[in-house]
Amino acid sequence: MPCKTLDGKALAQRTRDGIAKQVAELKTRGVTPGLAVILVGNDPASEIYVRNKGIACEKAGMRSETVRLPAEISQERLHEEIERLNADPEIDGILLQLPIPGHLDERQALDRIDPRKDVDGFHLVNAGKLLAGEKTVVPCTPKGIMRLIGEAGVPLVGKEAVVIGRSNIVGKPIALLLMQAGCTVTICHSKTVNLAGHTRRADILVAAVGKAGFVTPDMVKPGAVVIDVGINRVEGKVCGDVDPAVSAVAGYLTPVPGGVGPMTIAMLLENTVEAAEKRA
Ligand code: NDP
Repeated sequence: MPCKTLDGKALAQRTRDGIAKQVAELKTRGVTPGLAVILVGNDPASEIYVRNKGIACEKAGMRSETVRLPAEISQERLHEEIERLNADPEIDGILLQLPIPGHLDERQALDRIDPRKDVDGFHLVNAGKLLAGEKTVVPCTPKGIMRLIGEAGVPLVGKEAVVIGRSNIVGKPIALLLMQAGCTVTICHSKTVNLAGHTRRADILVAAVGKAGFVTPDMVKPGAVVIDVGINRVEGKVCGDVDPAVSAVAGYLTPVPGGVGPMTIAMLLENTVEAAEKRA
């Protein structure tokens, strides 16, 4: 069976069209969803992500505010900015663009965000609810991945899922969501012994490693759904964690660019609109 491309760009566009309609409806009730993105310092990659998020918001008819803070800002000043946004009735979602400079405590800053405005789902309250299987804000990248897998139309109950990566923003939450969907989940990381022995069992394989071309065809079960989360820059070109030659073995594969990335932004808009719905 030839490998099918899971087109995240197209699915994200359809999702954003739906969101724009929801936003228009919310506006008739006097509510314009608003997203504030806090950017500390001027990391070039973060600048691009923040700009794209702002453009996506505006295209959907939402309000967007970028709060630019100097790299040397103190923890207290950062918290003051977060508190200001917490108190702003026009702001439904607050996103702290990561990574932040090393002298700042990321955990403390994330936990200053009002959990109701935590559209990234990184606040400990929301992360805890996800772990407990309660309704909560689901982090954008894992939420987008679940939508992409849904597009493949592959039933998940009883399937073997293998996640490479155990970060709080991708690996752990996607493993939880796959488990909640009925998969038997294995989480692999840098200390895993015989990684390929695990990945070759996977009906669903999620690569969130941050190493270009890390997953090679010999690591993939024929017909598997392969989700490439990685964003790596090699000689100026963006590429994923999965070697494109995997398409000779996989049943479904997300491209990079145009797979998980656009879905992450669409889910950010969706989480912000959901927060605005609660305000309305
Ligand atoms: P992290 O660096 O936080 O995590 C990487 C994970 O990969 C770690 O758990 C690490 O293990 C594991 N790992 C590293 N080397 C190996 C190895 N040799 N074998 C097995 N596991 C290994 O990254 P993130 O989760 O934040 O991001 C992963 C990738 O996804 C990055 O490329 C990032 O840019 C991208 N990304 C893309 C998004 C999108 O929207 N498309 C959103 C977020 C991230 P250990 O824990 O043991 O160190």
